[in-house]
Amino acid sequence: MIDNNSIEQLKQTVDIVDVIGNYVELKKNGANYKGLCPFHDEKTPSFIVSPSRQLYKCFGCGAGGDAIKFLMEYEKLSYPEAIEKLAGMFNFTLRYTEGKQGGGEERRILETVGQWYRANLEHHEPAKAYLKKRGVSLASIEKFGIGYAPGSDETLHFFQKAMIPFTKGEEVGLLGHDNGRYYARLIDRITFPIHSPSGMPVGFGGRTMGDHPAKYINSPQTKLFNKSRLLYGYHLAKSSIYRKKRLVVVEGYMDVIMLHQAGFDTAVATLGTALTNDHLPLLKKGEPEVVVAYDGDAAGINAAMKAALLLSAHNFEGGVVLFSGGMDPADMVVKGDIEAIESMIAKPVPYAAFVIDQTVARHDIRTPRGKEDAFHALKSYLSTLSPFVQEKYIPYAALRLGVNAAMLSPKSTPTRTSERFGKQKRYDGPGVAQTPAEMAPSPSFFTLTDVAEESIIKTLLKTPSLTDMVLDTMDSSMFGSRREAFEALVKGEEHDDLLRIELDDSIVVYSEEELKRQLAYFLQRYYKKALDNIKKDDRLPFEQKIFKIRKYQDYIHRLKRGELVPYE
Ligand code: ZN
Repeated sequence: MIDNNSIEQLKQTVDIVDVIGNYVELKKNGANYKGLCPFHDEKTPSFIVSPSRQLYKCFGCGAGGDAIKFLMEYEKLSYPEAIEKLAGMFNFTLRYTEGKQGGGEERRILETVGQWYRANLEHHEPAKAYLKKRGVSLASIEKFGIGYAPGSDETLHFFQKAMIPFTKGEEVGLLGHDNGRYYARLIDRITFPIHSPSGMPVGFGGRTMGDHPAKYINSPQTKLFNKSRLLYGYHLAKSSIYRKKRLVVVEGYMDVIMLHQAGFDTAVATLGTALTNDHLPLLKKGEPEVVVAYDGDAAGINAAMKAALLLSAHNFEGGVVLFSGGMDPADMVVKGDIEAIESMIAKPVPYAAFVIDQTVARHDIRTPRGKEDAFHALKSYLSTLSPFVQEKYIPYAALRLGVNAAMLSPKSTPTRTSERFGKQKRYDGPGVAQTPAEMAPSPSFFTLTDVAEESIIKTLLKTPSLTDMVLDTMDSSMFGSRREAFEALVKGEEHDDLLRIELDDSIVVYSEEELKRQLAYFLQRYYKKALDNIKKDDRLPFEQKIFKIRKYQDYIHRLKRGELVPYE
């Protein structure tokens, strides 16, 4: 772990303008710097870097944060990796707690052994011939760090020579032991190093070249290697996944390697396991469309079905592609069927349609019993989807099943999938379409214009002492789209809008007099509207009505004279 004080010192040492200046051409613009945003495609600069706040913000896509966040986003690094990178840029020596450097020793061992495996491959003709026969190019061998693990004795000998204790070899999953005798786990196999999403070596996969019953074996679970969370090839596919907004999951290492070789560089594979909940955080990164591309045999179809159920229930975009005729993607690349792969991946069967097709195919819907079973299975599946996806696929399911669509419609008010699956609601910024339930009568009937809201907020950011004047006369419900930002400001919390408003030079800052005038002007209109509403309200008892009318008339009168009135 990196020592927290050390991180703080580093933050004080770095200048965000220098950091971002390495990646983006920045031009001075008033107190700030401006450039073309590296996170979205743009022709005119809307990316601002503030040296005084040590923050960046893009007005185009909303990206923003400090120097560490920038490196995490731009270089796709984890938090500690971004800190280490930043420290490297400024020749800053980080301190680590308890001498543990985040598995540094284990990583060095894996790196050393990986180099040795790679060197072995160069001198092992059968292994080279095997890879050549499978169509793997030299460039792919290099890119994926493919190597060769010889016999157990040779491996143990190498560990001794490299002065790596056998106990360490076991900790990183390369050695095992039996009655006190150590042995190599990978024997006479082609080796594929497995990396963390950030590109750190964490383990190895090994493929037999002969007819060993275990075609592939992976490192066992270790401190670094958790195969249920990892995806093979992700560190190489990552930047393309973010750029192309697509990710292709295939079944094996060889499929990943061959797809990359053919230019499909967003391909990744699970490590001998099915796609599970544990993979979802990694799959979600960059919000790509996820295409599940599996073999068309029974095992592949079953795995694709599980993946489609999981991904559709979690609101992923994407679908399923099945390779038929006993071909896997690697075979197709070798055969040169690149265009066929391309068109399949471009048009996957959407998850919901795939699940519906499979469910119908698995039941004999010509019999009432089979049809009923299929109906219940589909109804329960559809209920896991968001109401919008349900609405889209209910007619299709009804058609495939031969029933009336109304039978498949949820009777009760549908709950939102995102809520049931405990997913956090994403903040999409103001102006996002709302569901009818969210458009329920709001207490605010008259709100500030966007321009006024932003100016008031900016004024309070510059002169916090004016906050009381606003709080005394206004309620946060009078704020429209910037209500959340205003509330965050009052509570002293961070909010994306606050940073944007502060950095946007086009938003006017009021003087105290101007703020007062603006408030009085807005409140006059507010209470006039309130007065109208009261006059029209027939449900209000007469006494109360008269009281309120007098009060609002008095307010309007005072506001006209420029006097602010308290909000109650
Ligand atoms: Zn941007």
